[in-house]
Amino acid sequence: MQRRRFIKKLAGLGAGAAVTSGALSSAPAVAAERFNWKLVTTWPPNFPIFQEGVQRFAKDVKTISGGRLNIQVFAGGELVPPMQTFEAVSRGNVVQMGHGAAYYWTGKIPAAAFFTAVPFGMNAQGMNAWYYGGDGLKLWRELYAEHDLVPFPMGNTGVQMGGWFRKKINTIADLKGLKMRIPGLGGKVMAKAGVNPVQLPGGEIYTALERGTIDATEWVGPYHDLRLGLYRAAKYYYSPGWHEPGPTLELTINKKAWESLPKDLQVTIENAAMASNIWMLSQFEAKNLQALRELKTKYKVQFLEFPADVLRHFHKMTKEVLKEEAAKDATFKKIYSAYESFRKNNDAWNEISEATYAKARKL
Ligand code: CA
Repeated sequence: MQRRRFIKKLAGLGAGAAVTSGALSSAPAVAAERFNWKLVTTWPPNFPIFQEGVQRFAKDVKTISGGRLNIQVFAGGELVPPMQTFEAVSRGNVVQMGHGAAYYWTGKIPAAAFFTAVPFGMNAQGMNAWYYGGDGLKLWRELYAEHDLVPFPMGNTGVQMGGWFRKKINTIADLKGLKMRIPGLGGKVMAKAGVNPVQLPGGEIYTALERGTIDATEWVGPYHDLRLGLYRAAKYYYSPGWHEPGPTLELTINKKAWESLPKDLQVTIENAAMASNIWMLSQFEAKNLQALRELKTKYKVQFLEFPADVLRHFHKMTKEVLKEEAAKDATFKKIYSAYESFRKNNDAWNEISEATYAKARKL
């Protein structure tokens, strides 16, 4: 009944209405193609914030696209082992999207480290400025192009914690011979201090630390480390996360799959990823302190700061690592130089803005 009235009303509108309805009916015919994609992550199943943020992203994309782009999300190991997601998305025959951290792939692409974190480098705000306001995203896309991947920043933890240790670290000598889970450039710096760095996905860290396969680990910060139960395997929790001052997480998309999407779905992904990037960072900023208090009061974790001399040593070793890596790899050198020039300007601005403000607040 209602439908008949509606048609009558349309007919009554005459020629003008016919043109409008013609334009409407031809547009959806092109746009109606549906895409059913798979996204694999490096995170444990149901992992809060990271996996949760990815699921939220997939839901957003589905809603905004009116169901035209449907992304099925799989945690690490559900479809692809966590550390094989890069290759899986690069091949693109089974999965089209991945979520993880670029520094997991430094074994094959050393320069990927810049797109997660540089020890003593930029924080989350600086990293986002580099991607969205500087040349960071362009350089990242160039680096991944030969692997048939298109990367997007999607998530950031803010400044991390320095990690869990079973014994106190009073001097650099205390690090010698320790086996520690620490990926990326931070791991290379630790290696110079005599540590044996290992790479493990999040889901394997607790067991390795509890069984003594590793002596120390870094993971994220109080909120996540509490959930992983790391306080049950080590009692000393160090700050700051000098090695990861604002690590970016990545969304990767197979290049061919990306190019097969109509422009409006590409824009949908770009914007949903950006929203997710901020959402994840905001969760950490809002939730870390409560978790830290719980670790302190309920589980009697000892919070310690790395001694200044140890940090000075990490500083020195970081410079050496970056110099050595740049000498080995022209791409690393190129991105290092671009990163450094952006960082210097960012630091100079922060000295006037953030640092002056922080000082003023304490007066
Ligand atoms: Ca970490």
